[in-house]
Amino acid sequence: MNSVVKVVIEIPSISMIDLDILREAFGMLKQESRLAKASLEVRVVMPKMRCRRCGYILTEEDIRAQLNELMRGYGEEYPLHLMPDLAPTPLKCPRCGSHDLEMEEPKIRITEVVIV
Ligand SMILES: [Zn+2]
Repeated sequence: MNSVVKVVIEIPSISMIDLDILREAFGMLKQESRLAKASLEVRVVMPKMRCRRCGYILTEEDIRAQLNELMRGYGEEYPLHLMPDLAPTPLKCPRCGSHDLEMEEPKIRITEVVIV
């Protein structure tokens, strides 16, 4: 039986998933399976956002700056923690100010599985 040596997953940065918990879960999950020897590589990726009004594509810095601003406002009660789907709502286009942003769905993706 082939065994998996490495699993690479991508996590959207705005999902605020606790990576330690994720790794721990993977560690438990892999026992007594073909994943027993597998290492987990986590890549945190920024979602791509585009303004529907002016076509501006937000850069990672644009998004990060706005998220930081939000987090400062909410402190511990940061709502996206619970509702990552709402992430685009408070964000706006830095060029025209529109909130009508189109976002690539923030999904956790398995991007690579190495099998020997
Ligand atoms: Zn715009």
